[in-house]
Amino acid sequence: MPDVDLTLPHHRYTVSIEPGLLAKLGLRVREVAPHDRAALLVDAAVSDTHGRTAAASLEAAGYQVLRIDMPIGESQKNLTTVAGIYEKLVGSRLERKSPVIALGGGVVGDTAGFVAATYLRGVPFVQCPTTLLAMVDASVGGKVGVNLPQGKNLVGAFYQPAAVIVDTQTLASLSQRELRCGLAECVKHGIIRDVTLFDWIDRHTEAIAALNRDVMVELVQRNVKIKADVVMADEKETGPRAHLNFGHTFAHAIEATQAYGGYHHGEAVALGMVAASRLAVAQGLCDVSVTHRITDVLDKIGLPVEAAELAPTRHLLAAMRVDKKVADNRIRLVLPDRIGAVAIHKDVDDDAIAAAWDSLRMKQP
Ligand code: NAD
Repeated sequence: MPDVDLTLPHHRYTVSIEPGLLAKLGLRVREVAPHDRAALLVDAAVSDTHGRTAAASLEAAGYQVLRIDMPIGESQKNLTTVAGIYEKLVGSRLERKSPVIALGGGVVGDTAGFVAATYLRGVPFVQCPTTLLAMVDASVGGKVGVNLPQGKNLVGAFYQPAAVIVDTQTLASLSQRELRCGLAECVKHGIIRDVTLFDWIDRHTEAIAALNRDVMVELVQRNVKIKADVVMADEKETGPRAHLNFGHTFAHAIEATQAYGGYHHGEAVALGMVAASRLAVAQGLCDVSVTHRITDVLDKIGLPVEAAELAPTRHLLAAMRVDKKVADNRIRLVLPDRIGAVAIHKDVDDDAIAAAWDSLRMKQP
């Protein structure tokens, strides 16, 4: 079984990965959080499909299910949504031992996790991710939270789930664009930790796009293993967990400066990884072949490697400075040494970062 176990100082849990696993959700939840009631917080996009399967499975396992449809989109990951859920949980008298189950993408997982961490000072939490990004990244590691008008993920907690249940078949309804966005994080995992994963993705892009059953299980399993290892080494992000931010300081700046409807997160991460690798080459940290390999695999997947529209460089630099990851007013960047190894750099000057931004701008024909 391709399960991945996480062992942390005060907690351990398993990420179970299997096609069709959602039908066994009730039995799995009963193993970690037995009770007579459960709250199922469902991404509205999958409510009529995977939501039904999940609710039926929970009911068959003896739970009375409070099902809450969660509004779609990053803009809904906020305290108003959280307050609405608290009200429903109180109204249905959900108790200390009643599990909260998140079924959906990272928006639902982060929001439901924040609710689980805070309702009655913490109730059991189960993650059921239905996007590739949530499967390989957001559902593992215990970071939960919501956005404030001032910025992304500014309120949150480290709150580990009791279990993560991954049914890779739920990806069948996901758009190819969202699938590619999740794949950007998988490429990132390869770059920061595992050149063999990077090469494997390069060889399997078509099978992944076609959602080949065995390939998807292997993809999720290998990536969850990397995320789990990083989290086990540094649960609260005091050190190497920051490597997961590779490409993200650039990506957050793209997201913060673009008009609504622009690049999706994974697309911004792809551009961010290209910019970070070019910066690393310019700083003499790695060979130019690293950038070539990264752009080749991203391009093959169908992710952007150059940008048609980017805000002015000075705006992008300013946006990088307000990112949460800034320490002592210095931008902390994760840059590659080679495919499979990265390091944190705090002393890169603005001109070099500006040149990396400019390198992303699409050349006019
Ligand atoms: P998302 O949750 O917005 O989901 C993307 C879209 O897919 C949404 O429209 C959703 O309704 C839809 N959807 C979900 N599952 C589907 C399915 N099976 N079929 C059809 N449509 C489906 O986005 P995401 O990329 O999953 O997650 C992004 C969020 O995750 C961000 O808020 C980000 O901050 C967070 N995140 C958290 C962590 C963490 O460690 N907690 C890590 C990475 C990202």
